[in-house]
This record gives sequence, structure tokens and C-alpha cells, in this order.
Amino acid sequence: MELSKKNYYSNDADWQFMSVSQFKSFQECEASTLARLKGEWQPEKDKTALLVGNYVHSYFESSEAHEEFIEENRNSILKKDGTERAEFVQAIDMIKALEYDEFFKFVYQGKKEIILTGTLFNTEWKARIDCFNQEKGYFVDLKTTRSLGMRYYSEKYQSYVSFVEKYNYILQMAVYKTLLEQKYGKEFTPYIFAVTKESPPDIAAIEIYPGRFDFEMKLLEQELPHVLKVKYGEVEPKMCGKCEYCRQHKKLSGFIEVGDLLEM
Ligand SMILES: [Zn+2]
Repeated sequence: MELSKKNYYSNDADWQFMSVSQFKSFQECEASTLARLKGEWQPEKDKTALLVGNYVHSYFESSEAHEEFIEENRNSILKKDGTERAEFVQAIDMIKALEYDEFFKFVYQGKKEIILTGTLFNTEWKARIDCFNQEKGYFVDLKTTRSLGMRYYSEKYQSYVSFVEKYNYILQMAVYKTLLEQKYGKEFTPYIFAVTKESPPDIAAIEIYPGRFDFEMKLLEQELPHVLKVKYGEVEPKMCGKCEYCRQHKKLSGFIEVGDLLEM
């Protein structure tokens, strides 16, 4: 199947390709991810955060993409009187914070929202890159986040980490970098521009020590075979026990001790 902007997020595309977000989702909860892929279940969680992110992304893609996005999501973005809902007023502030920054404007140049496919660890992958500058050898990902310095405890890293590690953005950058390097036969450097949902928004231009990528790729190579077995029905999916899907499907089978609550 040929990937396009229209079918990139489709169920067919998710069956044919692995993506960083699908891999992350399987690692968080195998049961809910598989149920969603099979079309048996849809999360009910608030889609506003996703829409705010896409609103900001489409703005920096092109004015046509932004108009089209607003048109498609008119009811979520606008109130009855035609003005933006509070989250999108904030999204406009986020756009301005980046747009008025000279360094951002200088770096955020290249092809926007390119779709990339390639083979990694014997699996077909898909990726969408926010901004790709082939000549200068870098690509940029835009991230919206709560605040730049927020600390999260991470089981994966066994320590407190920033939002970049918490949301597996280093893995994402490592996979995109590898796919681009395979395709174009030269090295590419990933950068992240982050903008916060604070008022006024904070911004940061983030680089990543190359040494961080090796750890991510090794872990991916180790864990991908299991994820694929779950995806293609060779292994029963495990329930994480915590997410929306697992809470809906929970059955008690006995008691837990008070101390076990914090281990859940
Ligand atoms: Zn779950």
C-alpha cells in the first residue's frame, strides 16, 4: 500500500506498518492496543490534547493544511459564536511563541510533513517528519508539552526523566534518523522544538547526544519481536491492568494487600 496524508493514520496502514507510536502503545498495554487495531475497541479519552498538537503542526506545515485542519475539526475548535475554544486560544499563543522566534524560523526550514517508509529489524516502518532539511542534514520535530522542566519517574530508565524520555521521543528520533540515513545514504541530526501549554508558553530548541540513540535502538531490537508476535496473534496480549481498556475489562479474583497498591 502506498502511504499518503489521507491514509497514514488508517487502520490498514497500522496493520501493514509498524510505527514508533504503535510500538509505544504495545509497550504500554498490549491488550488495548490489539483491541484498537482489530477495531474492537475505541478509547473514549479526550481528544482535545491531540487536536491542539495537530492544530499547531498544521499551522507550520502550510496555510492550506491549517485551513483544511480547521475546516475538518470546526466543531471541536470553534464555539457556537465562531471564536476559538480556550484550548485553541492557547494553541494560537503557542504558535506565536515559535513564529516570532528568529532561531526557530532559521532552523525550521525544509520540506514539511514528509511521509517516510523503510525496513528496520526486518519490519516495515512508517514515519511522518515535521520538517526535513535534506541539504543541511537535519530534521525537526515539534512537540507540545506541559512544561519544560517537569520530572517523570520512568521504569524504562529507572530514574526521573524529562518529557523527552518519558514520551519516548528519543526512540522516535532514533528510528526516524535511521530510516532517513538508509534512504539518503548520509547522516541526519534530529532536533526537537518544544512549546509548552503554559501561559505565556515557554519554548526550547533541544538537541540529543548521539550516544543516547544506541540504547534506544538496542532496546527496540530486543523488544520488537515480542511486540510483533502479539500483533500477529502468536502470543496472547497482556493487560496492563491500569488503562481505560483494562479498567473496563477488570475482574477481581481475590484480595491485594495495602502495600501492593503502590506497586500497581
Ligand atoms: Zn491496559
